[in-house]
Parts: sequence; structure tokens; C-alpha cells
Amino acid sequence: MNTVKKLSALLLSLSLLLGGCGAGGGPKTEYLFAMDTLMELTAYGKNAGEGIRGAASVIKELEGLLSVTDQGSDVFAINRDGGAESVAPHTRSLIAEALLLGDMTGGALDITIYPIVKAWGFTTGEHNVPGDAELAGLLSKVNYSDVELDGSGVSLPQGVEIDLGAVAKGYAGDMAAQAMRDSGIASAILNLGGNVQTVGSRPDGSPWRVAVKNPLDPGREDYLGVVLAEDMAVVTSGGYERFFERDGETYWHIIDPATGRPADSGLVSVTVVGPSGVLCDGLSTALFVMGRDAALALWRERGGADSGFDVILVTESGRVTVTAGLSDRFTLLDTENFTLDVAE
Ligand code: FAD
Ligand code: MG
Repeated sequence: MNTVKKLSALLLSLSLLLGGCGAGGGPKTEYLFAMDTLMELTAYGKNAGEGIRGAASVIKELEGLLSVTDQGSDVFAINRDGGAESVAPHTRSLIAEALLLGDMTGGALDITIYPIVKAWGFTTGEHNVPGDAELAGLLSKVNYSDVELDGSGVSLPQGVEIDLGAVAKGYAGDMAAQAMRDSGIASAILNLGGNVQTVGSRPDGSPWRVAVKNPLDPGREDYLGVVLAEDMAVVTSGGYERFFERDGETYWHIIDPATGRPADSGLVSVTVVGPSGVLCDGLSTALFVMGRDAALALWRERGGADSGFDVILVTESGRVTVTAGLSDRFTLLDTENFTLDVAE
């Protein structure tokens, strides 16, 4: 089912792209399927081909290290063996960043959530609603501060398992953007399945226009809104991305580590905008768990232009709140179903 959506997204992007570029000097675009999502890499300039190859190569390398289900990955080995004496520098850096984000968000981002994600069947597609006793047992294994990093090694207590799915695409976006810059690319846009990473501005010097999906119906072409971005990541977490329905209830893949159940904070979509893809990815998941008030409190404490993030929060009642740094960079397009306010 997801594959159909992905294929239609591919065709849509292809048609937009073909319609949008002229014959000469147009962008180069390549598509790759990685991390269970369709990725679209577009670069401008004479080194565009080299930039795209470099970006695709680092994304594939990271997929090989970070997949929780691929038996050859670092993460698989860490979970199977309760740790690893030595992991790749990328794996270590990402785990270290994710643990800091765990601290920053009071544990709303917790990479040791994996036993719970498995119990709900989000990894296998064999969806299941775990009972209270099962969840209580599994929750005793969820605590990111149990993850120990020592040199290039990682260790986990018995029964603890990690999942970097909430941060890996953001990190991959950072590394892919760096690969572009290393090839001398000044203008590129990378869409890693909902995580958009921009390099520089558009070739004419104007900002990139990044569409934010409409949480009411993410398949629709009438987007929620558009963000202007230059050298920024724009990362959205939405309950609609992966979910299943059972007995009239919807269960989505973003889990509140306090309860072991799908986050139920009143938010239906969170977009985080900032220069660091990994920070934006981790925060988009965590703020979705924390809810509107706690998300704004964290932004007031740690966000803004200097430390690097602004947010777009969408509640189930149709209220869209953008933080001050985005007030002149976000345009609400679906004014029929949503209202917009700015948080200071
Ligand atoms: P985000 O909001 O960024 O992250 C949500 C994901 O993070 C959840 O799916 C869960 O895995 C985890 N999570 C949930 N709650 C929390 C929390 N509170 N704290 C921390 N983490 C949480 N999917 C497949 O079906 N098959 C595959 O083979 C597969 N391979 C992958 C390989 C790689 C390297 C990566 C990065 C992802 C892969 N995925 C695969 C997708 C993965 O399982 C997640 O669904 C995906 O990363 C979610 O991204 P998102 O941007 O939609 O959501
Ligand atoms: Mg995330």
C-alpha cells in the first residue's frame, strides 16, 4: 500500500520536474529508493552529476550502517549482541547526537524505543495492539540514558535495543548536502522522503520553496503551506506517514516513550526548520510527542535564529502555529481548513 503512494509521489514529482525545467542548463535529478522511502536529489551547475553521485553514495553507505532490520548493519549488530566493540564513525556520531536530543527533549526522543516499535509491528508491517501488561514489561527496557558510548564502542543493557529511524534521514540529509558542497555545488534540493535539505538558494538567487504536506489528506496536491528556505533542512513528522487502523482506532508510528502508545498530544503534524538536518529530524519526532505548549516552551528556551530551529505546529483542531523566525518565510495555503498564528 505504501509502495503505491510512493510510486504516485514519484510520478507526480517527475511530472512537476519535467514541466518545470527548460531544455538547456536545467537541473539534474536522480531518484533512489533508500531507507524505505523514495528520495529525489536535484542539483544545478556543471558538477551536478558528481554532486548527486556523492550524495547518493553517502545515503547508501548510511543505510547499510543504520538499518535496524538489515543483518549486516551496525545497528543490527548492536541490538543482537548488546553492543559492539567498534562501530563506524557515522554510527557513533548519530547515536551521540540522538542521546543529546534525548536530553534536550526530556526523553521525548528515545532511541531505545525499538522493543515497543516492534511490539506494535511497525517494522514488520504485522500490526498489533499490545496489551497493558506487555507494554509495561517493554517500557522497563526503554531508557536512552542506558546507552553507553565508549571510544568507538557502544554497549546496551540486556534486552535494550535501539532504533535510529527518528534521526537517520536527517543525518543522511546533512551528509548528502555536505557531499554536494564538497563537489562545488552551490544550489541543490534533496528530498529524503519528507525530510527536505536545501543547499544554497535556487540558481537565480531566490530561496527554495518547500511544500509542507496537508495533514488532513497528505496525498492531496493542495499543500498545507510553503516554507522559504536557504541552506536549511525542512523536516516534517506526521501521524499520517505510517499508521494502521484497528476497531475504528488509528495507531501511528510516533510513540510516546512515557506510555509506549502512539503519541496523543493533540498535534497532527510538526515541521522543524533549521540548518541541522539531524536536529530538525529528532525534534520533529520529539515535539510531536511533547505537544504544542511544551514544543513552544522548548523553542523559547533553545530555538530561534541563533541556536537554529523554528517550528510549524499543526493541531488536530486545525490551528497552525509558526514560531517568529518563520513568520515571513511561511505561507499558509489551505486557509479553508486551517488558521495561522505566530508564536513569539
Ligand atoms: P520520524 O518521526 O522521523 O520517526 C519515527 C520513527 O522513529 C518511528 O517509525 C520509529 O521507528 C521511531 N520512533 C517512534 N517514536 C519514537 C520516539 N519517541 N523516539 C525515538 N524514535 C521513535 N522501514 C521499513 O518498513 N522497512 C525497512 O526496511 C526500513 N529500512 C530503513 C532503513 C533506514 C536506514 C532508515 C533510517 C529507515 C528505514 N525504514 C524502514 C523506515 C523506518 O522504519 C521509519 O519508519 C522511518 O525512519 C520513519 O521516518 P519518518 O520521517 O516517517 O518519522
Ligand atoms: Mg524524526
